[in-house]
Amino acid sequence: MSLKQFVEQKYCLSCQGCCRFQDANSIWILRLFNQERRRLKLEKNTLTPIKYKDIFFCPYFNQTKNYCKIYRKRPLDCQLYPILLNRDKNKIFLVVDNKCSFIKDKKQTKKFKKYIHYLTRVLQSKKFIKKISKNYDFITTYPSDVAEIIELKKLSSLFHGAKPSSA
Ligand code: SF4
Ligand code: SF4
Repeated sequence: MSLKQFVEQKYCLSCQGCCRFQDANSIWILRLFNQERRRLKLEKNTLTPIKYKDIFFCPYFNQTKNYCKIYRKRPLDCQLYPILLNRDKNKIFLVVDNKCSFIKDKKQTKKFKKYIHYLTRVLQSKKFIKKISKNYDFITTYPSDVAEIIELKKLSSLFHGAKPSSA
């Protein structure tokens, strides 16, 4: 699945906000669908970051040149960021990570609203709902420094009565 991008790639290439984490079990480490895990030949549905000078990096990140080595085939979670799927009890929301400097002052723009409309459609498509129904742990609960955008009601109905995320 390939998503249209909102953040300009050239901005990301000069930013140091993504692909690195403060600890090895950070909630921000990307989550994978079973299909992505198999494609990347990994054993679990999250990545195991590599520690370098007190920072944990995604194993697919080129630290010297600041880019993703699998950019064209990067997982959906990476394509989605700085938008995230967030679970609040049994409701699923699209949220935005306030730490992304690109998006901070663009949340009120027409372009952003149009992009959210696009994501809402794609992430509530039959195809995506089927994908989530086989990968419930793909959606977790992030800390409070994310801003809620919209509830994805079709996804919420999938989680109605489901147990809280184990993450
Ligand atoms: S924090 Fe935002 S601008 Fe920076 S690399 Fe990540 S997505 Fe790109
Ligand atoms: S797969 Fe690529 S985009 Fe995703 S966290 Fe790793 S380096 Fe970053």
